[in-house]
Amino acid sequence: MTSRRPNLKDYALPALRDLCVSRGWPAYRGDQIATWLYKNDVNSLEEMTNLPAELRSVLAADFELSSLEVVMTQRSTDGTAKLLLRAMDGAQIEAVLIPEERRQTLCISTQVGCPLTCSFCATGALGFTRNLRASEIVDQVLLARKQLAPDEILSNLVFMGMGEPLLNLPAVSEAIRLFTDPKGFGMAPRRITVSTVGVLPQIAPLLEVAPIHLAVSLHATTDEVRDVLVPLNKRYPIAALLETLREEPRINRRRPVFFEYTLMEGVNDSVEDARRLPKLIEGIASKVNVIPMNPHPDAPYKPPPPEVVDRFTATLHEAGIRVTLRRDRGRDIDAACGQLANRAPRKAAEIASNAIS
Ligand code: SAH
Repeated sequence: MTSRRPNLKDYALPALRDLCVSRGWPAYRGDQIATWLYKNDVNSLEEMTNLPAELRSVLAADFELSSLEVVMTQRSTDGTAKLLLRAMDGAQIEAVLIPEERRQTLCISTQVGCPLTCSFCATGALGFTRNLRASEIVDQVLLARKQLAPDEILSNLVFMGMGEPLLNLPAVSEAIRLFTDPKGFGMAPRRITVSTVGVLPQIAPLLEVAPIHLAVSLHATTDEVRDVLVPLNKRYPIAALLETLREEPRINRRRPVFFEYTLMEGVNDSVEDARRLPKLIEGIASKVNVIPMNPHPDAPYKPPPPEVVDRFTATLHEAGIRVTLRRDRGRDIDAACGQLANRAPRKAAEIASNAIS
């Protein structure tokens, strides 16, 4: 196994300054390092030419600077790009770059696999290996930025890749601090969305980090159905989840919560579901994103026919809910929601074994 020295990208700015001070250097050296790493895209200490040589050599001895490498990039016919990335210990994760007319969104992972075993999600079927470090979350953004054309900027970030962000809050928080710090990536917090199935005790601590958007994977209107789709519902049932959101002062009309609702035929797509949902979320400043199920071999569910999807969204709309139907992006390369499962290497292996058999 490779050495596991700490990585300079594990530290947001306050910590980076403290690190310099603790070694006898002025705090502003931390700011200079951040500028090199996040604004100038430099990935070696030698290139940080305004740092004293002695500081560069002590840091080089004690810290890593890279945490991930690109194994493969796949481009969808719709322009979506999926990056397969490898960590120092060999663990593999995925990040998905989604180009739209006026924005470039990156979907990033927070864990290697996921412990939550949601029955419709391909990542859940992988099992759980470990949490990502802050540096590994940050490097997804740095590596994805290199895929952009010179006139494009990465405008939005969604924590909707592999893993459950609220089960890795320390690293997720440190990464968010770097993304939003003007001395780091300088992104507007409202352009960052963190999605959770609802790990209730961690919601307030997350929203304290920065005024980001929260997305909640709801997917059902009864505990009976949600217990099956999202097993963590047995611990934090729908009523408790919605009560937490209703009482959260940081969720308001200016910063609504986004409810995600993956529609599965015959499971959660009934007229009763569509009528129950607005009543359930009444009083919570929110928008609803309806996502027809992206089918994959590890789950027995399918998307409903288009007329059922339309009826569902129309019923919500008539009840005064702000609802959007999320378009599929990158389905042909298994990059759509819930399809991230490092399938490409498996596919490559299948092709290779077919070729020799
Ligand atoms: N664990 C967090 C972060 C991952 S977000 C969470 O679940 O919120 C991934 C999003 O894709 C979630 O809203 C998830 O419910 C959705 N999703 C998972 N599998 C899907 C599938 N097969 N089709 C469509 N959406 C899916």
